[in-house]
Amino acid sequence: MLDGQQRITSIGRFVTGKFSVIDENGYMQNFNSLTPENRTKILDSNLLVYHCKGTESEIKEWFKTINIAGVPLNEQELLNAIYSGQFVTLAREVFSNSQNSNIQKWSFYIKGAANRQDYLSTALSWVAAAKGQTKEEYMSAHRHDDKIDELKTYFSTVIDWVSGVFFDVEKEMQGLEWGRLYEKYGKQPYDSAKVSESVRRLYGDAYIKRRSGIFEYVLGGEVDTKLLEVRVFDEPTKKSVYHRQTETAKAAGTSNCPLCAVGHDANKAKIWELKEMDADHVTAWSKGGTTSADNCQMLCKTHNQSKGNK
Ligand SMILES: [Zn+2]
Repeated sequence: MLDGQQRITSIGRFVTGKFSVIDENGYMQNFNSLTPENRTKILDSNLLVYHCKGTESEIKEWFKTINIAGVPLNEQELLNAIYSGQFVTLAREVFSNSQNSNIQKWSFYIKGAANRQDYLSTALSWVAAAKGQTKEEYMSAHRHDDKIDELKTYFSTVIDWVSGVFFDVEKEMQGLEWGRLYEKYGKQPYDSAKVSESVRRLYGDAYIKRRSGIFEYVLGGEVDTKLLEVRVFDEPTKKSVYHRQTETAKAAGTSNCPLCAVGHDANKAKIWELKEMDADHVTAWSKGGTTSADNCQMLCKTHNQSKGNK
């Protein structure tokens, strides 16, 4: 069944007396209490049902053309349809149910809406990735399972880990790859008081452009500054430092790249053009160096790259 499976099932259940409906006069009616004419009307109605058989990729294509109430199916809704079965049904009861009291806590770490399957999608991605599988491989392998313990347990483990390590909740935590971070850092001990102190200090640092990188930066021992996109020197600062350095270098007969100047190769006395150089923090930002002119030096591109993003 491609679409409308629930509707057709409901008709069948009503006709076999499984539930009642409220009629136009406000009375509960099950199928047997309807008037004979109405019963006949229902039983004599023809339903047009297509039963399609195809490969998984064909089925996927069919679904892409189906809209539910005018809204195209998103990736996870598509997967739920393709791998529909007991496993998806049970998983949806937990992860797609906005009445689930856990959703509020989960929403600190996960972006999206339960009813658009964002929580389910995240939970599946995490457990699948931990097993070296894609979400589709995982759903396919578990399609006929009658329990979802592994999915539920892994998800809770990740969430408990994040909320245990990071005391404060920041809005940038939402939607991070917590599953990947758990796999990478989950076995390491952290002092959550120290972690909290670091996060607060970094949140107060005006040079950090990418706050969502703070969490992985702290987990990794505050080494990989690339995660933070630390603010770079602006053009006027670069120009003025360049001119200062170049004048001094010309007078001394050395290269205007301080690292070339102390070297032993042909570039020892080379005067680089501004566009051949990059700005570097003399004292690394991670060691407290600021992004201001008095902490800026221009290096030739080669030396700047070899010094790395520190
Ligand atoms: Zn150089």
